[in-house]
Amino acid sequence: MIVRVMGWSSLVAATLGASLLVSCSDSEAAAPERASFEATERADDSADDDEAADAPFLGQNTRFSYTGEFTQGGWMRGLVPDGTVSATLGDTPLQIAEDGTFFAAFDRDADGSVTLSARLDSGQMHGETITITPRSWDIERVNVARRSGGSSEAWWRRREPEWNAIQEARAKETGATGWQQDFIWPVKGRISGRFGRQRIYRGEPGSYHSGIDIAPGNGVPFVAPADGVVVLARTGFSLEGGLIIIDHGQGLNSAFLHASRIVVEEGEAVTQGQHIGNVGATGRATGPHLHWSLKWNDARLDPLLFTGPMN
Ligand SMILES: [Zn+2]
Repeated sequence: MIVRVMGWSSLVAATLGASLLVSCSDSEAAAPERASFEATERADDSADDDEAADAPFLGQNTRFSYTGEFTQGGWMRGLVPDGTVSATLGDTPLQIAEDGTFFAAFDRDADGSVTLSARLDSGQMHGETITITPRSWDIERVNVARRSGGSSEAWWRRREPEWNAIQEARAKETGATGWQQDFIWPVKGRISGRFGRQRIYRGEPGSYHSGIDIAPGNGVPFVAPADGVVVLARTGFSLEGGLIIIDHGQGLNSAFLHASRIVVEEGEAVTQGQHIGNVGATGRATGPHLHWSLKWNDARLDPLLFTGPMN
């Protein structure tokens, strides 16, 4: 029995579902953390077979191992090469768990390929090219001028503190481990808006839809799609209405918009499947629905690629 392979398959099993985040734009890259496992493990003289069988890694991983959805809006989970001190996907530093596992993801507008690289304790660099398949987004060209709503100074005075609260929440690192899980749907119902959809107004692109909209009916409870820590839970945001943001760890987070009711508090740890709020139409919404978005650092992701189709 090959021990290293067993270690990897359990990683893969643990891996199929991480998660998300949303809302407004940008920010900070997560601080890189050092991989803590040893590159080589010397067998001791009195090698005991049972003990050897329990060792998770035998110092033979010279490349990255990974699984995921290698397309725009998708994600990957993997294991760094032995002896990795730090690693990056493109320019983004990866956080590496103590067992050498990591999470990374690909923005909606990611280029066709990106380099996954590791700096090794030998001083050498190791790089691999990840190919990212393009998607064909739902683009609608309309012959009307783009509205410039929401750009006035008065509007920004109200919006700025909300914006800052969202950025601060998203910058929090809670050590949550939901990124390791297979994500579940927060609620099931008619999908009323898909991720990535975009209108082009007389040649001028509007912003694309940053999450997925699910419309199960007003007041229906929704749950955490994966474990995490609530980093924001507030009502009354001008666009988002009742807004919950959950950190799933490793720079991955989920946002849930338009809630009619919020039943969790900031700082609270939640587990996958736990009731966190109820669907509503608060903030800028034309009808009751849950807008769920996922973000990894600055990359906006497609929740459908984390859960699979709704059955
Ligand atoms: Zn939406």
